[in-house]
Amino acid sequence: MKDEQVIEVDICNASVPRNHQTTCWGCGLNLIFTSYSPIFKCGWCGAITNRHTSRKPDSPWFAWWRNTRDRFFIFVLLIFMLFVIGAGIWAVYPVIFSTSYLCGIIHCTLTAILSMWTISTFLFSSFVSAGSPPVIFWGKHPDVVKGGLENYTFCIYCAKPKCPNTHHCRSCRMCVLDMDHHCPFIGNCVGAGNHRYFVSFLISLVISCSYVVFLTLYSIGHIGWSPLEYRPPGRLMHVNSIGALVFVKQFLQNVVCSALFLSARGFVLIYLAMACFSLEIGISVLLFQQLRYIYEGRTYINYLRFNKGDEVGKKGMHNIVRFFNCPFWFSRLLVGSLNTGQSLESLNIKNL
Ligand SMILES: [Zn+2]
Ligand SMILES: [Zn+2]
Ligand SMILES: [Zn+2]
Repeated sequence: MKDEQVIEVDICNASVPRNHQTTCWGCGLNLIFTSYSPIFKCGWCGAITNRHTSRKPDSPWFAWWRNTRDRFFIFVLLIFMLFVIGAGIWAVYPVIFSTSYLCGIIHCTLTAILSMWTISTFLFSSFVSAGSPPVIFWGKHPDVVKGGLENYTFCIYCAKPKCPNTHHCRSCRMCVLDMDHHCPFIGNCVGAGNHRYFVSFLISLVISCSYVVFLTLYSIGHIGWSPLEYRPPGRLMHVNSIGALVFVKQFLQNVVCSALFLSARGFVLIYLAMACFSLEIGISVLLFQQLRYIYEGRTYINYLRFNKGDEVGKKGMHNIVRFFNCPFWFSRLLVGSLNTGQSLESLNIKNL
């Protein structure tokens, strides 16, 4: 009797053949169309079927390559962070302690806090599951209630239902809830399970890089650069294009000659300052992008899928508050002061 139940769905495509019949993957009911429709939604369970998708199995080389790439990037990033911490301590602390012992102790504490914050959030982002979709019963009519699979699609890779806002990642070989993107540097997807750790990692990186740049520049100013002192070109009397070229040439010659006499500590300080400054710029752009998507109530994948003007969620600081699970007093300060049109009650913010 169950198999004989038929639900008619709206026609989406006017091409033949007529009386086309198929089975809904969500509830198992037969559906009849008066014309062929490649994508349709079941009138009973609400599941969406796309008959145009076909699974191309990934080659073993593809999986191996992605896996190796991710592990390599994790290793490189971890080594780089340990190098910055170790080399920074070696190059900066003798200079800091030589100026003030108390300053040295304060900076030791700050370094320990920032190092632990950065490495712990990195490890959490990498090894905490990005978030798998909830397990739901499907495929049999009496057990799947009306609207029970509303807007669900079918993942042909995992062979199970995929709820809205879920995407399949071919690198992680799983469906990820609220997937933002797959990040090779953490070797993991960024999704509902680890998005907060990932953003926290970016914040810690920006603050730590700024701190390293500040300390290295301070140390560069106090290390004693007598060989690098600039000697102005003697015969540069007129400011014109030839004079400017001579100026630049002599300046570079002085720097190169002076660099030959630099100590290892000087080289490390210059390298750390330049590397951390470049990293800080790149990570700041990424962090700004992430915070903008969170503010807009969307993920990076939603941004790619929908047009600019499409409303995915309501914009506002309430999204930031919810994302970071901010304490009540801070939520009130943030949402109240920025007047986003959202009351705290509507956000279900409870006193923590
Ligand atoms: Zn159905
Ligand atoms: Zn999947
Ligand atoms: Zn992934």
